[in-house]
Amino acid sequence: MSCPACERVARARIESDPFFLADLRESVAVLHKHQPFVQPDSGLAVGGWCTLWLRDHQEHLGLLSRERQARLAEDVGDVARAMHAALGPLGMRRVNYECLGNVVAHVHWHLIPRYSRPIDPEPGATVWVRQASELECGVDEVVRDHLVAALRRAFARR
Ligand SMILES: [Zn+2]
Repeated sequence: MSCPACERVARARIESDPFFLADLRESVAVLHKHQPFVQPDSGLAVGGWCTLWLRDHQEHLGLLSRERQARLAEDVGDVARAMHAALGPLGMRRVNYECLGNVVAHVHWHLIPRYSRPIDPEPGATVWVRQASELECGVDEVVRDHLVAALRRAFARR
């Protein structure tokens, strides 16, 4: 069975993956391929939506061993800490933590930075209320490289 998440993990472990952030205890962290909270015209390279993928194919967080759940929670915390360090100075207000699995049934987390208006059009709501066309916007390579470098520096300082 081909799983897009397993393929993503394999790709993240190749050194040249420009989205790669960190190899963690149970998971691999990457910058999300879509960065909706970026205003390219303003020159503001904000954004920083990260995803965290369990290394092996498991569908249910609740069926992992308690030890693995605990290590994965530490991974999630480490990514969030790096986001606060790298994105806080850019105006990030908080991180939303989402572990869904409805579309991709492989344990993963979305760590979504939230900003004030107008960067974040609806700070009081989950991002999933936005139109798919708005969320699936890709990312400019310059913005991507800026975010990846800032987040990697934050990981290196931990
Ligand atoms: Zn998988």
